[in-house]
Amino acid sequence: MKLPIYLDYQATTPVDPRVLEAMLPYFREEFGNAASRSHPFGWRAREAVERAREQVARLIGGASREIIFTSGATESNNLAIFGVAGMLEPKGGHVVTSAIEHHAVLDPCRQLERQGHEVTYLRPDPGGRIEQEQVREAIRDDTILVSIMAAHNEIGTLYPIADIGRITRERGVYFHSDAAQAIGKIPLSVRDAAVDLVSISAHKFYGPKGVGALYLRGRDPRVRLSPQILGGGHERGLRSGTLNVPAIVGLGCAAEIAAAELEEEATRVTRLRDRLQQGIVSGLRGVRLNGHPGQRLPGNLNLGFQWVQGESLLIGLQDLSVSSGSACTSSHPEPSYVLRALGVDKDLAHASIRFGIGRFTTEEEIDFAVKKVIETVKGLREISSVMR
Ligand SMILES: *Cc1c(COP(=O)(O)O)cnc(C)c1O
Repeated sequence: MKLPIYLDYQATTPVDPRVLEAMLPYFREEFGNAASRSHPFGWRAREAVERAREQVARLIGGASREIIFTSGATESNNLAIFGVAGMLEPKGGHVVTSAIEHHAVLDPCRQLERQGHEVTYLRPDPGGRIEQEQVREAIRDDTILVSIMAAHNEIGTLYPIADIGRITRERGVYFHSDAAQAIGKIPLSVRDAAVDLVSISAHKFYGPKGVGALYLRGRDPRVRLSPQILGGGHERGLRSGTLNVPAIVGLGCAAEIAAAELEEEATRVTRLRDRLQQGIVSGLRGVRLNGHPGQRLPGNLNLGFQWVQGESLLIGLQDLSVSSGSACTSSHPEPSYVLRALGVDKDLAHASIRFGIGRFTTEEEIDFAVKKVIETVKGLREISSVMR
């Protein structure tokens, strides 16, 4: 077993070796520009891109003409939010989202506010859930867009996308979902759920970084967007720029693998997650689960550890590559805005750890992690009780 153990699958995932193999020819001999119409290099690149479009569409039950390739979920969220607002603004300009969305949704919403739009930020319940009734109550006559993620990147909570879609459809409001964490992990079908725009990121499900897609419903309703990147008219004029053919091929391959293996993998990953949780909880007192106990991503476990200091905990857990409940971007780490919105106190937010489990996690690694966490937390608690 190699240390440190990677347990941060919600931050990113390794590229599946099958995905890498599929991409390689498009760095080498098949280097054509998919927009070149006059020779076989271009034709073959275009074929590869269109195959990937089919693969992505199939994973979510959409049609390939409804898929726009982007540089990732951040760009897809920006295109969805600014694109819809830019197209429909004359109608009004009210947006409904939640207070615990990813920054790639919150920051564009804040920007819309500066441009004169109004945004309602729904408050989650203590499990991080947003209920459809909150959405129903927030929609006004001038609402143009509801944006609620499918699964949460920090706490793993799942959202009632199908139920929200019934409400937005009834009210004639576009529904966007940042599905970066859900795609390839849990079933999500645009046939079953009336979601009109869906953001996808390849590197969250074993594809390469820097590539993603935006699903745009083609009819009933047909989503119309104002493009945010102009120049050349690629992707039906909605996203200009030479296509990253190898990365798009990788995204397509990752989507095909996910479609074939999602169910089995979700079962295996859930078992590992439960093993990690039960192991830690049975060995330690004062452990609190952040997020929803049942409605949760298979590979996510977010735990708060009472009576330890967050920073020492992270240092003690250096053999585990995990993520903490603080944003470590400054010398004064801020506790996670997500955990704070759930009512977790500052100290416990700092002493919270996100464990992300995925395709290549083994039982041996989980058992090592359980031992390590118990040992570290117990050790820290002993030191602090001696000092008190
Ligand atoms: C990772 C992530 C993003 C950003 O995706 P990129 O492809 O890295 O830009 C957005 N939203 C959620 C929920 C994510 O997990």
